[in-house]
Amino acid sequence: MSTPPPLREIIAEYGLRADKSFGQHFLLDLNLTGKIASLCGDVSGVTIIEVGPGPGGLTRPLLALAPERLIAVEMDARFIPALEATADYYPTPFEMIEGDALKVDEAALTGGGPAVIASNLPYNVGTPLLIKWLKAEPVFWQRLVLMFQKEVAERVVAPAGAKAYGRLAILTAAVASARIVLNAPARAFTPPPKVDSAVVVIDPLPAAQRFTDLAALEVVTESAFGQRRKTLRKSLGIAAGKAGTSAETLLEAAGIDPGARAETIPPEGFFALAKAWRAARG
Ligand code: SAM
Repeated sequence: MSTPPPLREIIAEYGLRADKSFGQHFLLDLNLTGKIASLCGDVSGVTIIEVGPGPGGLTRPLLALAPERLIAVEMDARFIPALEATADYYPTPFEMIEGDALKVDEAALTGGGPAVIASNLPYNVGTPLLIKWLKAEPVFWQRLVLMFQKEVAERVVAPAGAKAYGRLAILTAAVASARIVLNAPARAFTPPPKVDSAVVVIDPLPAAQRFTDLAALEVVTESAFGQRRKTLRKSLGIAAGKAGTSAETLLEAAGIDPGARAETIPPEGFFALAKAWRAARG
């Protein structure tokens, strides 16, 4: 197997300037992208889906892992010829999908087989993409390896009581366990963004441990964290109103002190609240 030309050559040859409107910040350090790819774990028999491959800095080590196949979803068509030429250097079957990852049905693409999603995510769509994958039913992925801006990464993994704790951490904890594995300073990217980044590894919980009523969970967490400085007795009023009940009734059913604030309640407390909300709503 020969190696593809250096990334900078590919970028120059195909005229691939970073386009800010697509949130493009490239990783050209193959040591770093190799480390990120290795976080995918054992991928024999697995389809890797890479979102936003750009010029292919992460695509290369992903192809080298020799998964069952690699499906790349990229919105900016300029990269496609370069990516296809790069993939020809590897035996891994490669499929390119031109389009918006928010609209792609990944479970249909993988046909129910095991999948890992790996991505250096565009900042503006990182959170909605994660929420889409968390909500997928059935959970079609066995791991997510995602680069976020650091502040978002912290919101994904935050425990109760932490400054970054809120809706995203609770939604994540309902179906998965998440940890920050790698930090990437802004200077690791070309061009450098304004903020640092971090890679988060997210693994689904065993099916029996998941809290699956994410719609109810969203209603209660939106209400509770919408006014995070208020006590739950006050802040849960909006959610309670939607179910035709009172905040006190929901809190009592969930065994939570009405004088507590949202940020002190662990995810399990919110699962209990979501359950109580669903029961009240009928
Ligand atoms: N993975 C490459 C790297 O690490 O060098 C590029 C990362 S760059 C931060 C984000 C990439 O996602 C860009 O190539 C951009 O065109 C692509 N992108 C942006 N929004 C997208 C979307 N909604 N769906 C698919 N790709 C998208």
